Amino acid sequence: MTTPRMLQFVDRQQAMPDKRAADARRRDFGEIYEGYSDTGAASQAGRCSQCGVPFCQVHCPLHNNIPDWLMLTAEGRLEEAYEVSSATNTFPEVCGRICPQDRLCEGNCVIEQSGHGTVTIGSIEKYITDTAWEKGWITPIKPMRERGESVGVIGGGPGGLAAAEQLRRRGYKVTVYDRYDRIGGLLIYGIPNFKLEKDVVLRRARWLEESGVEFALNTEVGTTISFADLRAKHDAVLIATGVYKARDLKAPGVGQENIIPAMRFLTASNRTGLGDTVDDFDSGALNAAGKNIVVIGGGDTAMDCVRTSIRQGAKSVKCLYRRDRANMPGSQREVANAEEEGVEFVWLAQPEGFTGDATVTGVRSQRMRLGRPDATGRRSPQPIDGEIDTHEADLVIMALGFDPEDLPVLWGEPELPVTRWGTVKVDHRTQMTAMPGVFAAGDIVRGASLVVWAIRDGRDAAASIHDYLKARAAAPAAAE
Ligand SMILES: Cc1cc2nc3c(=O)[nH]c(=O)nc-3n(C[C@H](O)[C@H](O)[C@H](O)COP(=O)(O)OP(=O)(O)OC[C@H]3O[C@@H](n4cnc5c(N)ncnc54)[C@H](O)[C@@H]3O)c2cc1C
Ligand code: SF4
Repeated sequence: MTTPRMLQFVDRQQAMPDKRAADARRRDFGEIYEGYSDTGAASQAGRCSQCGVPFCQVHCPLHNNIPDWLMLTAEGRLEEAYEVSSATNTFPEVCGRICPQDRLCEGNCVIEQSGHGTVTIGSIEKYITDTAWEKGWITPIKPMRERGESVGVIGGGPGGLAAAEQLRRRGYKVTVYDRYDRIGGLLIYGIPNFKLEKDVVLRRARWLEESGVEFALNTEVGTTISFADLRAKHDAVLIATGVYKARDLKAPGVGQENIIPAMRFLTASNRTGLGDTVDDFDSGALNAAGKNIVVIGGGDTAMDCVRTSIRQGAKSVKCLYRRDRANMPGSQREVANAEEEGVEFVWLAQPEGFTGDATVTGVRSQRMRLGRPDATGRRSPQPIDGEIDTHEADLVIMALGFDPEDLPVLWGEPELPVTRWGTVKVDHRTQMTAMPGVFAAGDIVRGASLVVWAIRDGRDAAASIHDYLKARAAAPAAAE
């Protein structure tokens, strides 16, 4: 069902020149485009009580020194605020936009817990860093000294890039290899533009390049270049390849046309936004405009798919999830945003088949109820006999989560240690695998996680690589 709100939004997007469209976006989707003036940021930052028990800092994976940069912002000392905030975070403008702050820093703000509304930490972090870019305070890295050793980083997502930045600061030669044609990983082709504008990511990529980091794009380790060659070429290697194997659903009719994985849909949308020609988007195959869309899944990727569908001008958008709202993995804030934009959520609905003949026409779902908690502590969904619904669909998007690709097989490296889930096994104190000089960071170690955790891992891995290379230089024989 197309709601008046959806129509208004789509009409305005299509008809308006840029500035007016941006204003309309701000009105319609204010949670993302919330902006500050200097005085607005200062007064919001001034709400921090400097409570002395900075739970916000503890619950930020980077342990950002939030109270200090809030105080500096409140005092109008923005350049210093930027210095403090960027000391622990490689991409503060990204985290400020897309961290699930309600579960991290802001959710643990003492003022929030006393019922007075959190200090909007993420928005202030974004504001400080956007201002630093505007004012020219962010300049290319100039290491104190250049070092002879080089590090190869596989994967140009936030994990790999955070490591690249930290290694470059320490003077190493760094090459980032990525199979995509642009740097950024899921920041560029996964997360939609309405949550994270692509020029924000590309600006950081340019800055890294100006800082001396080399990018080898369209280079897939395992095909374009072998892992063994990469190891031979560099003194240390970091694996930061993320997780990309989409989980499947086994149900009758699942192989039909118009049932597509979430990443195909989101990548096409992001590429189009970046100005690329995407034939499957232009032909309508990967475009939600005018269609009844059914998204299957209850995580943040599903939320991105439903909200992207709305923005493309879908006729109706439904999201099917087999548990209830309270037990979904996605952020409650995202669900509220999606509902407000006109998405219909069908809770306790397990897809059990697809109608249509070659081209899907609908999704049949089994109604569920929640039973006892399973081994993970979550209440497991159980079918209610005979209760089946059918949902009309012109395009079905599967957002059931991601698993790691089988790196030891793809790379012909049976020695690369992986867990039973396929994630790369590391010593968590050093991020190093059992292969000397081979480290790993981000989703490929944790499983699908968050940008801020990938940044944290990348920074930690860089510190360990530095220690490893220093130790090797001091005692070459011992490290062999
Ligand atoms: C749709 C979607 C929305 C999300 N939204 C959010 C959000 O709002 N907030 C949040 O915090 N997190 C979000 N996440 C999670 C977040 O994007 C990831 O946790 C994060 O990007 C992981 O970073 P990474 O560097 O480990 O991997 P990635 O970002 O996945 O980057 C890995 C890179 O490695 C490259 N690569 C892989 N294999 C090879 C190879 N063999 N050779 C060369 N290159 C290779 C890939 O091309 C890619 O560029 C979202 C994820 C998805 C899928
Ligand atoms: S990095 Fe994320 S969790 Fe940490 S302060 Fe910024 S928005 Fe909050």
